[in-house]
Amino acid sequence: MIGAIEAGGTKFVCAVADDSMNIVDRCTIPTTKPEETLPKCVEFFSAYAIERLGIGAFGPLDVIDNSNTYGTILNTPKKGWKNIDLISPFKDAFQIPVKVDTDVNAAGLGEYYDGHGKGKSSVLYITIGTGVGAGYILDGKPLKGFSHPEMGHILIRQRKEDTFEGNCPFHNTCLEGLVSGPAIKKRCGVEGKDLGKDHEVWGLVTDYIAQALTNYILILVPEVIIIGGGVSQQEHLFPIIRKKVKTYLNGYFDHPIFQTDLEDYIVYPKHGQNAGLLGSLFLAKEAKN
Ligand code: ADP
Ligand code: ZN
Repeated sequence: MIGAIEAGGTKFVCAVADDSMNIVDRCTIPTTKPEETLPKCVEFFSAYAIERLGIGAFGPLDVIDNSNTYGTILNTPKKGWKNIDLISPFKDAFQIPVKVDTDVNAAGLGEYYDGHGKGKSSVLYITIGTGVGAGYILDGKPLKGFSHPEMGHILIRQRKEDTFEGNCPFHNTCLEGLVSGPAIKKRCGVEGKDLGKDHEVWGLVTDYIAQALTNYILILVPEVIIIGGGVSQQEHLFPIIRKKVKTYLNGYFDHPIFQTDLEDYIVYPKHGQNAGLLGSLFLAKEAKN
């Protein structure tokens, strides 16, 4: 048996699976205080003989294997969660190997092994939800340097007619500050899911997402780009984003991918809103002492 947690800012989703990755039980625990949420997760897993655990978590997070604070949440604005060690409660309770990575690296791994990245060597997974983040998987390994990437905070060229002040506390109008769910709500006064398809905000949101994807493509040359997260449930955005990416690239790459309309290149996750949880099971498989 293996265990997985998709540790998000609003909820922790826990799952237990057999060795063939079939989920046999799952539960959702609200993200309140760490001293409440983490013991509830331990309690859920204690009914099973899990041999390893994978955690895909919101960040920023220490994901460097040999670091003394591996698995600790770093400078998060989420109250009460800064410097919280996600690993010890489970190691102490079950004496099992635990592997931690970002939610997007986990989701990217899930899609790499069992989704739209299957058979490819590189996958870019981006989430557009409460925050914006991305993970790049190359040959089964998430890209890391001194930390995990922070691709949601890249700088964007704001359109001249757009006077929105942005929503990122660090950079105002970075990608996250312009296109996250809360940024859309701040700009429009209502949640994105309650806006009509022809609302003018979608023209801006698709432009900024397309700028970001263009930059990611130029830097990382991924073989597939998967967009998940709450905002990606607006399916009508995909064809517009694909078209704008082609416009921004302007024929620069002559790879066959760019001879298409990109409908197989910029895609919704095969596992939909489950991508992160499934990916965390793949993390569990890789967990070592
Ligand atoms: P989280 O980021 O907490 O993991 P989600 O990826 O579901 O969760 O993102 C939540 C954000 O996405 C919220 O800001 C919400 O307004 C927005 N959102 C959720 N569903 C939709 C939708 N169908 N269309 C547009 N925005 C949505
Ligand atoms: Zn930012």
